[in-house]
Amino acid sequence: MERTADVIDAATDLAEAEREAAARRRKPVMKATGHCRYCNTPTPGVFCDPECERDYAQEQWAKAQRPR
Ligand SMILES: [Zn+2]
Repeated sequence: MERTADVIDAATDLAEAEREAAARRRKPVMKATGHCRYCNTPTPGVFCDPECERDYAQEQWAKAQRPR
């Protein structure tokens, strides 16, 4: 019986870890600076609108593709 419980515990821990990792991937933690990260417009959030968030993400992606 103990063996079965251990297997279930391990599976639960793994699922939990995967959920946390997925949550981190979906929501990168960015601190709000008072200005939009993309266009520098004053905003209480990280970006002033969803388009800036999308454009910023595209810019970051493009930078990542560039060879050093
Ligand atoms: Zn903006």
